[in-house]
Amino acid sequence: MRLTLSFFRRNAAAYALLAIASLAAYSQEAHTPETHGIVIANMDRSVKPGNDFWRYANGDWIKRTEIPPDRSYIDTWEILEDLSRKRTAGLIEEAGKANAPAGSNTRKIADLYHSFMDEAAIEARGLTPLRPHLEAIAAIHDKRELARAMGESMRADVDALNNTNFHTANLFGLWVAPGFNDSEHYAAYLMQGGLDMPDREYYLSDSESMRDVRAKYQVHVAAMLRLAGFSDTDLRAQHIVELEHAIAEKHMSLADEQDVHKANNTWTQAEFAAKAPGLDWTEYFRGAGLSSQASFIVWQPDAFTGESALVASTALDTWKDWLAFHLIDSYAGVLPKAFAEESFAFFGRTLSGTPEQRPRWQRGIAVVNDLLGDAVGQIYAQRYFSPEAKAQAEAMVANIIAAFRRRIDALSWMDPATKAEAQAKLTTLYVGVGYAETWRDYSAYEIKADDIFGNLWRGGLFDYRRELSRLGLPVDRKEWTMEPQTVNAVNLPLQNALSFPAAIFQPPFFDPQAPAAVNYGAIGSIMGHEISHTFDTEGSAFDSKGRVRDWWKPADLAHFNGATARLAAQYDTYKPFPDLAVNGKQTLAENVADVAGLSAAYDGYRASLAGKAAPSDNGFSGDQQFFIAFGQNWGAKEREAALREAVMTDEHSPGEYRAATVRNLDVWYAAFDVRPGEKLYLAPSDRVRIW
Ligand SMILES: [Zn+2]
Repeated sequence: MRLTLSFFRRNAAAYALLAIASLAAYSQEAHTPETHGIVIANMDRSVKPGNDFWRYANGDWIKRTEIPPDRSYIDTWEILEDLSRKRTAGLIEEAGKANAPAGSNTRKIADLYHSFMDEAAIEARGLTPLRPHLEAIAAIHDKRELARAMGESMRADVDALNNTNFHTANLFGLWVAPGFNDSEHYAAYLMQGGLDMPDREYYLSDSESMRDVRAKYQVHVAAMLRLAGFSDTDLRAQHIVELEHAIAEKHMSLADEQDVHKANNTWTQAEFAAKAPGLDWTEYFRGAGLSSQASFIVWQPDAFTGESALVASTALDTWKDWLAFHLIDSYAGVLPKAFAEESFAFFGRTLSGTPEQRPRWQRGIAVVNDLLGDAVGQIYAQRYFSPEAKAQAEAMVANIIAAFRRRIDALSWMDPATKAEAQAKLTTLYVGVGYAETWRDYSAYEIKADDIFGNLWRGGLFDYRRELSRLGLPVDRKEWTMEPQTVNAVNLPLQNALSFPAAIFQPPFFDPQAPAAVNYGAIGSIMGHEISHTFDTEGSAFDSKGRVRDWWKPADLAHFNGATARLAAQYDTYKPFPDLAVNGKQTLAENVADVAGLSAAYDGYRASLAGKAAPSDNGFSGDQQFFIAFGQNWGAKEREAALREAVMTDEHSPGEYRAATVRNLDVWYAAFDVRPGEKLYLAPSDRVRIW
């Protein structure tokens, strides 16, 4: 039961540069509305809303839209990302022309982008930048030195509850966040790792498509080693894949990882040797710069025990090859073309089904966003998010929070003490709209205009050291984990805070000139979704100060679990492919948030009318516009491989089923005259009401 997740997660499998490449820009014109409101041209009115609400709201858009060849999917979110990327590209271009003084953020933006774009220099240098690191791996003599090297490779590249990324290809990953048991101070969380492919299912699933992926993966490993000049590459690749298969068997499943109670395991540094024998932990922590850290929260204890035992039982040479391969693979995007193309052939084409790689300049923007996100974001927010839009969005948030207050007060099943803590959580909730109140300081991050490998290497270390330096310090509850130029929203449970970046406040999600029905159905349901995470099964594990504390009475929780079990069963019935269904448990927290968010947004919309009738639009009533706008949040087309990956690894349901959330709200039936016998029809007793 994960607590907070970003609203929309496309990139959880953040395998280093691959993630950067997959996020890269595509220069498609974003939707620029001439009218303000629902997009009637995107609807398919030949579909009955009660049979398939997703196609009713998006059908004509789905019919006329082609997935661009350099993408694995296209959707409403991605189209808005395009607008944001285009604007960001303009800002980077300006930075390049500014001739700004060395050391300034503007100069860093310009130099980082230039270093990525200078392909001739990258080709000329070949593997030279990687050589010292490969030689260091080759020089490892024993398991003690291996432990040291593994510690040195650790990065702050995982995040369990905020931007939700459970994947690192390093042996383990570090996440620095407010402590489960002391939310006033930053604690060190350790998470399982070691797999290059996105999740254990890729190694363990018996499905034909996964067996096929595994065979191609081994070919890819051998190809990368061959390009890097290794001998006996087929045999080495076989051993690496066998090792990763063994690691995958030790990994916790994604559904289990979301249960914070299973994750709340404090180990002192001295306990690691007894609880997870095999790895030389003293050397590991020394390499990681964590020797003086007294204790850690170990997210998946069995995986730590299992992986540590594998360090002892697996041959040193296999581990060295594993280290070398992971190093080469994670930097492939900034190595000579042959490496980048081999990497894309596997991760882009095979894993995501994307035919073509994005143009280099678009990948360059993604690199700048990734490493200097706040430097760009500061300019972006100033340029593209007006104080008036910010005020209007903040008023919507206030209305939806008020709706939640009324809903909590009206619950007949909830204990008064539980209600009081829920109201306290609403009172202390910090909602960031547009951008953070403070910006990240990049002065300790050195960037060179001719050294992309070094820029990335130093960027990872800069980030890691910044996180280490925060351990034990007081928590800044107003801190953001997302940049203003990101089209997303996030709930930060340990801070009891939400963030809505500037870039999400664009049509069709938000349009200052659109009717209230449309803004509440679109961005309002997203706001409601994030607020509801504050109170759901995950939110019930964190109190108004962000501490892990079960503040619900057992009877409250039993009622809630009964309702949510029915919702999990509802989603288990959705089958995007004959051999693959949506996992109702894995996606439960997000589906609950969709139901609750839509309900609260509806209340907020009704309240905003202050008793007046909502204006109709092309014959659609206010209520109809509200639901159609919600459905249009989820217009999407995906390639089969990408959709399969999402169903297996994403905590969110595919867009088609998120749009079907409407079937749980009585007002939707009235708005569209939905009758028994229609496919989405649920008898009133089968509709899941959460709040
Ligand atoms: Zn969510």
